[in-house]
Parts: sequence; structure tokens; C-alpha cells
Amino acid sequence: MRAVTFAKPGTVEVTEKPVPEIAPDEVLVKIGGAGLCHSDLHILHMPADSPLIGRTLGHESAGWVERLGEQVTGFAVGDAVLVSLIWGCGQCAKCLAGQDNLCEATGDRTRMPKSPGIGPEGGMAEYLAVKARHLDPIGTLDPVAAAPLADAALTPMHAINSVRHALTSDATVVTIGLGGLGHLGLQILAATTGARIIALDTDEAKLAAAPGHGADIALKSDGEAAAKILELTNGLGADVVLDFVGVQPTVDLATAVIGAGGSLRFVGLGGGSFPYVAGTGSLPWGVNIERSFGGTRSEQREVIALAQAGKIGADIVRYPLDEAPQAFADLEAGKVPGRAVLIP
Ligand SMILES: [Zn+2]
Ligand SMILES: [Zn+2]
Repeated sequence: MRAVTFAKPGTVEVTEKPVPEIAPDEVLVKIGGAGLCHSDLHILHMPADSPLIGRTLGHESAGWVERLGEQVTGFAVGDAVLVSLIWGCGQCAKCLAGQDNLCEATGDRTRMPKSPGIGPEGGMAEYLAVKARHLDPIGTLDPVAAAPLADAALTPMHAINSVRHALTSDATVVTIGLGGLGHLGLQILAATTGARIIALDTDEAKLAAAPGHGADIALKSDGEAAAKILELTNGLGADVVLDFVGVQPTVDLATAVIGAGGSLRFVGLGGGSFPYVAGTGSLPWGVNIERSFGGTRSEQREVIALAQAGKIGADIVRYPLDEAPQAFADLEAGKVPGRAVLIP
């Protein structure tokens, strides 16, 4: 089969690999679509001694059940399925609570739990072997449309659920970054909360699409943005800020506009930072922060349900699997509106 492989630093190649064998508790999934994420670009720039060299990428994929291991129940050949972003152990206290994103066995205080394409072989291939418990049925959803639900919708849903109590109809939420995760986060906010949504990006085309995705106000993320947001909130600042980018300018903006008692959620892994002063100065009183990562099993079901109801849907740029190098180049150049999805 063909598979998109991390060949060497800066290079992905489409290579020939054997169709994977499946264990008794695994399912062979015929991949219908596999999304590209900024995390894949981070992998692409890992050094030459990275253990991921030679590995198939792809932590966001969906397809159809091709073959079932003998212990697998609950699925039939031909079922359309979404492959989980996180492959938790299924047995630790966190996994038993559905919090595979905080798995204590495959991850730890500093390492992410296991994900396909970031450890095990990923979904940018014709086939993927995966434990049945890491699959969710998607019914009549097209796997190409569904693939981004695994990360680009799940991860924002988790961040939003953690602040859902604050997203009342008189609240203001600021959402920064309208890329893969951000454009779905915006749709989830609009579909599931009554809060006023101020959406920011540096890209004019993404801002132009924002009202259609549910933004009440679309603002250019520039040097004026913080002052504009404070003006729009009578100087009080926002109740919730979701940062889907995490670079220094967006972290600076998030901390500059959060209001007293507000909730900061840093989702993007852009490496920005801010000084926390245990005293007066760095943040308003009562602000809470969460380093949000991935989502839970039940949140995966929630985003599938929203997509099935037609309330959210990724803007998808389709690439044949063989054009993966071009898709990576386009993502890196900021030329992908929404999510790039590779189609085997
Ligand atoms: Zn990702
Ligand atoms: Zn676990």
C-alpha cells in the first residue's frame, strides 16, 4: 500500500509499505481521508535521529472497516468509522473516565499520550491497523469530511467544554486563529453557546469567512486588536479567550484582553509565553488557565453528532495521497483555508 512517510528532516515521501497485519483486538481500516495538522509540520522538522523517521504520519483519519480481528464485536465490515486522535491504554484511572487525552500509562507529566502518526503508524496511508476501542462509528458521514473531527474539532470542543459555564448569552468570547482548529472552534462556539464571539486572525480570507462560521465580530489580529476588544467590552475584557495559535503575539493578545474572573485556554502549541507574577501585575483577579490537550471519548461523540446534524463542518481542501508533499508545502506556506485532507 502507499503511505506518507517522514523520510528525513523537512521531507515527506509517498512510499510502498505492506498492508498491516491486525491483532485479535484490532480492526483494519481502509482510509477514506487523513487530515494534515500543524503538529505534522512540527514532526517534519524533527532532527535526523528522530524515532519517527520512516514512520507513516497522520493522527486525524477516517475510513471504512475492511477486516475485523477475531475478538472484535460491535463493528461490521463496511462501517464508516473515525479513528481516535489519542490511543490511551484503556485501563488507567484517566482512561476509565474517558480521559484518554490524559492517559497515565501511554503519557506522563510531560509526554503526550500515544497518538497514531506520532508513535504508532498513522492514517496517511491506504490502510491502518487500530484497536477497536479507538474507533467511533460515523454513520453516513463521508470519511473525508469526518477526518478533521478527530483533532481539529475534538480539541476545540474540549477547550470549549472546560469553559462552557462561562459562555452565557451575556458573555464575550475571543477566539484567536481561524485555521484548522480555529475555524471549527468558531463553529462549535456558534452552534453550542449563546456568547458573543469575537474572532481574530491575521489572514484576510480567513476573516472574510468568519461571519459565515458564526463570528459576531471578525477582527484583524494586529497591534490595534487589544484596544478594540477592550473597547467592545467596556474596558472589562473578555470572559473567555481561546488561543488556537499560541505564538508570542497571540499569547500577548490573550493576556491583554482577558477580563477579571475570565478563562484563558491555550490550545495552539506555538511556543509563546508570559510572565506569571504571584502578586499584582500579570493577570486580572480570578483568571483561570488551562493547558488544553486533545479531548475525551465522549467529546469525540459530541463532535460527530454536531457534524451529523450539519451544525459544524470543516472547510476541506482535498489532495490525492500522492500529492502529500505539495499539501505539506501548502500548509507550511499558510495557503490552506480550513483543513487539508489527503485521499488515498
Ligand atoms: Zn493535530
Ligand atoms: Zn490510560
